[in-house]
Amino acid sequence: MDNLWNIGTVKAVMERHGFTFSKALGQNFLVNPSVCPKIAQLGNARKGFGVLEIGTGIGVLTNELAKGADKVVAVEIDSRLIPVLEETLAEYDNVKIINEDIMKLDLAKLINDEFAGLEVAVCANLPYYITSPVIMALLEQRLPIKTITVMVQKEAGARLCAKMGTREMGAVTVAINYFATAKVLFNVSRGSFMPQPNVDSCVVQFELRDSTPEGVSDEKFFFKVVRGAFSQRRKTLCNSVSSALGADKASVIKAIELAGLDANVRPEKLSMQQMIDFSENLRKLI
Ligand code: SAM
Repeated sequence: MDNLWNIGTVKAVMERHGFTFSKALGQNFLVNPSVCPKIAQLGNARKGFGVLEIGTGIGVLTNELAKGADKVVAVEIDSRLIPVLEETLAEYDNVKIINEDIMKLDLAKLINDEFAGLEVAVCANLPYYITSPVIMALLEQRLPIKTITVMVQKEAGARLCAKMGTREMGAVTVAINYFATAKVLFNVSRGSFMPQPNVDSCVVQFELRDSTPEGVSDEKFFFKVVRGAFSQRRKTLCNSVSSALGADKASVIKAIELAGLDANVRPEKLSMQQMIDFSENLRKLI
């Protein structure tokens, strides 16, 4: 069904199926005709690609992805939407709907089973309550994905795509920069959704790196240090890390200074290399 962005169509489909929005599941459906074709085109929904979609709603983006990609696998947690999707996506034989929680799926197996011989892209208008966990799950598992193109809240987009060494950055910024390059593709106003949320959105894209930065001897420890570094906003790197890791301050200061940094430096000032150097020094000292 082609006009799923139309408010009248959304209302009619919902009424036919007795569907009501769930706020808890982040159900704000797109009702702007230009957004989905743009996500599909910029998000690699094209020949040779299999696309994983997270959260279908009534299928407005799924519909556009199915037109371009060889195959679409769409994961939707809300079983009330399954009969809706059977109606709205009836014309496509390259779409598979999985009625599951994306956080509980074995994504490596899914990609291996469903997208053999295809390049893989992820496209979604993400449910906002799981934005960071979903993105981190996709990145950390080193899945064979080319691009992740997702709609997120505008403020979250700024943080996710922040450059290292800038005020907007947080632990998630370091993790994203480690695994991928990130950019904001375009903004989407709150009026593009039904029901209308209180904030604007943006579409961001992560292009996964072929290899991660060199010099990290223990990734688990590195990310523990990174999470510790940003665990207490506006505190110094030393204070945050020593309290988060239970490490003595003298060792943390030594690790900071050996990385060529001032003992009072704040975590958002560090480049990726400085964060790696600090973490490696600390690992040897504690
Ligand atoms: N793609 C649709 C659109 O753009 O109109 C819907 C987007 S809506 C923001 C998010 C969708 O994700 C909802 O359909 C919701 O039911 C689904 N969802 C929420 N949590 C989920 C989860 N853990 N796993 C899979 N889908 C989920």
